Amino acid sequence: MSHLDTDHVLIVEDEPKIARLVADYLEGSGYTTHHIDHGDEVLPWIEARDQPPELILLDLMLPGTDGLTLSREVRQRWPHVALIMLTARVEEVDRLLGLELGADDYICKPFSPREVVARARAVLRRSRAAKADVAPSVPLSLDDDGWVALADGQDLGLTAVEFQLLRVMMHSPGRILSREQLMDHMYRDHRIVSERTVDSHIKKLRRKIADVWPEREIIRSVYGVGYKYQPEE
Ligand code: CA
Repeated sequence: MSHLDTDHVLIVEDEPKIARLVADYLEGSGYTTHHIDHGDEVLPWIEARDQPPELILLDLMLPGTDGLTLSREVRQRWPHVALIMLTARVEEVDRLLGLELGADDYICKPFSPREVVARARAVLRRSRAAKADVAPSVPLSLDDDGWVALADGQDLGLTAVEFQLLRVMMHSPGRILSREQLMDHMYRDHRIVSERTVDSHIKKLRRKIADVWPEREIIRSVYGVGYKYQPEE
């Protein structure tokens, strides 16, 4: 498959040794790479290109514009760019998820370059699948007016909350959403709800989908983190 992996990866990292190591491994795996070591140069560099890179490996702590700000900007302006955050501490991952930055994955330092390549490959595969029309593989459609979700043309009979959850997840295929993020989308009036409430709604939603598609697990739980909508096999 390596002959197909000509995806371009932007490495934003201010530690030259790490950047070089990651670049070497990615290029050895058939990717092309570009390295930027200053936060202020990232957005102008992407803007100047005909096409954004397929993937950005983004260090959190950078000189100039920091990784958090950059991830928000990138997500807003180039929604199809895959984004993997590089963080120095495991504890930061929880915080990042809470901030709803929409990264596709997180890698904690120190990491092995092999791990980075494996994660990059997985994220790019998911993002390609998400960019391809989802409809042929999963004929699931939402009617926002009637708040009706159809699976193979069959009404799933969702409650309003289940419908909202499904819609939020379908909006970001392959992306892990924390319970907190899902709660934010479900309850605009900021009622007090527990994360257990989210679990319970998701459970019912999955059961209703399983009634139509017993073989498919399109809503997956990610242990300790949250849930994601993953239409492809
Ligand atoms: Ca850094």
